[in-house]
Amino acid sequence: MGTDNAREFSSAAKGETLEDTIRIVSGYSDVIVLRHNEEGAARRAAAVSDIPVINAGDGRGQHPTQALLDVYTIKDELNRLDGVSVAMVGDLANGRTVRSLAYLLSKFRDVTIWFVAPPEVAMGDDIKAHLDEHGVRWRETRELDEVLPLVDVVYQTRIQKERFADEADYLRLKGIYRIDEDAMARLREDAIVMHPLPRVDEISPDVDSDPRAAYFRQARNGLHIRMALLDMVLS
Ligand code: ASP
Repeated sequence: MGTDNAREFSSAAKGETLEDTIRIVSGYSDVIVLRHNEEGAARRAAAVSDIPVINAGDGRGQHPTQALLDVYTIKDELNRLDGVSVAMVGDLANGRTVRSLAYLLSKFRDVTIWFVAPPEVAMGDDIKAHLDEHGVRWRETRELDEVLPLVDVVYQTRIQKERFADEADYLRLKGIYRIDEDAMARLREDAIVMHPLPRVDEISPDVDSDPRAAYFRQARNGLHIRMALLDMVLS
């Protein structure tokens, strides 16, 4: 059962709470996959659900299934996770995928993360504190060109237009980092470029044919990871 745009097309439009909707749907189904615009929504849903709840993205919070497919992709492409260095680039304050990926990478050894962003959209202190607790090396910079030759993975992200209250702030940041042929020339031959998609203009389509452009392979991995996850929670 699907309720796309549930705010308009489910009983939420009549004022039903998320908790009540989840109680109803958990009586009809075996698993709930919830994407919601509020941080913490999946946790609230899980607290009242009789069946498994999979967080498919909660506002600026987390996107754990994306992180699973991301680490799977790194392993599949580079054949290792321990020792990798990853540059997370773009809107690190509003993007949830980078938050979940940093969290999941902290479970591996000798990982280095570069947070490449202007201060307005820097990575949250909660994630940095988590990395410190787990001994993950991280650095912050706004200079993408300096980081490109140093890393195994460039994880590019979209400036999250829908999360800016003021459009002028979005327009100021949009286009700040772009992976194009010049950027690819700085990247190591054995490095890869990832992106959770959708892409707007932060990766030039000219890059798509470069074998290091892993983002469409990454998206396809999501199919298999999510099939495996559904199988795991249902059996
Ligand atoms: N698709 C990803 C997400 O749901 C990334 C994005 O929207 O930019 O968070």
